[in-house]
Amino acid sequence: MSQTSGRKSRDIIQGDIKVSFEFFPPKSEKMEARLWQAIRRLQSLNPQFVSVTYGAGGSTRERTHSTVARILNETSLRLAAHLTCVGATRGEVNEVIEDYKRLGVKQIVALRGDPEEGVGERYMAPNDGYQSSIELIEGISKIGGFDILVSAYPEQHPESPSRAADIDWLKRKVDAGATRAVTQFFFDNELFLRYLDEVRAAGITIPITPGIIPIANFQQVKKFATMAGASVPDWLGKRFEGLENEDMETRQMIAAAIGAEQVMELVDEGLQEVHFYTLNKAKLVYAICHLLGLRSSGATSEKEQVSK
Ligand code: FAD
Repeated sequence: MSQTSGRKSRDIIQGDIKVSFEFFPPKSEKMEARLWQAIRRLQSLNPQFVSVTYGAGGSTRERTHSTVARILNETSLRLAAHLTCVGATRGEVNEVIEDYKRLGVKQIVALRGDPEEGVGERYMAPNDGYQSSIELIEGISKIGGFDILVSAYPEQHPESPSRAADIDWLKRKVDAGATRAVTQFFFDNELFLRYLDEVRAAGITIPITPGIIPIANFQQVKKFATMAGASVPDWLGKRFEGLENEDMETRQMIAAAIGAEQVMELVDEGLQEVHFYTLNKAKLVYAICHLLGLRSSGATSEKEQVSK
């Protein structure tokens, strides 16, 4: 499947690039207010979909549920609800799937999840649980009624023995029913483009949407990258060098430039879709999207007007 628009980044116009946004469920009222500010701002950019994560070990089951429910009730956004199978029986996971169905969720991001003992430990599923993302995909397909999204790892998942094994695993996820993959974030586009070539050469034809993390806080993103097995190129560190004592606004301007540059390079390679890890903050993502030609529609649906 082609992922190319043919238009160069400097000529991109509204509608050339499709974006989607990831949010996480908030832990407090204050965080909830921040999340909703972010959702309200970013929904005006007419994203393809927004997604809501499922906390490590299923720790946010209730919060994910209520965030998903509120988004579906109060907005017209298309939504993908994440789900992992860590530390839960098949019955418990199936209950969440049925719950999603009752809420009107049409897309699930199906993940195995990290080991309960933490990243880097050996993954052990409960005996009566789904043993892998593939079994989870099969379980969701059996219940039916969902498009299934999955993860992909341009730099190889830390547990994977090789790139080839990782791509083979992705192929198995597609064979089990996945219709789109969203990648772990990366900073070196060459790595992603090489990965995309290898994925296509392996006969995988579903859309592979690059995951982009705007660098609101370089040190924090570096930590996330270490955990996720994503490399941080030296040149990226250099761009933030000397800014530690600068004001936040200056760092945000640099981050917006870097984020837009990364996506524009991908556009020049023919990519049309990107998924932003928003960390529930709108400003930076909004600025990057603006540079990418996206404009706020300003329109609110009937549902949104009622919920205001
Ligand atoms: P998989 O893709 O199933 O496996 C990861 C790799 O390990 C595979 O590529 C394969 O090489 C290898 N592997 C695993 N099992 C086997 C096996 N049985 N045989 C052979 N090889 C195997 N985490 C959360 O807790 N909540 C979230 O909401 C969340 N959302 C995410 C969204 C995206 C887009 C991404 C990229 C990651 C997300 N994560 C989330 C992180 C994810 O849970 C971790 O990376 C986890 O360690 C792997 O889960 P997975 O479904 O990606 O694993």
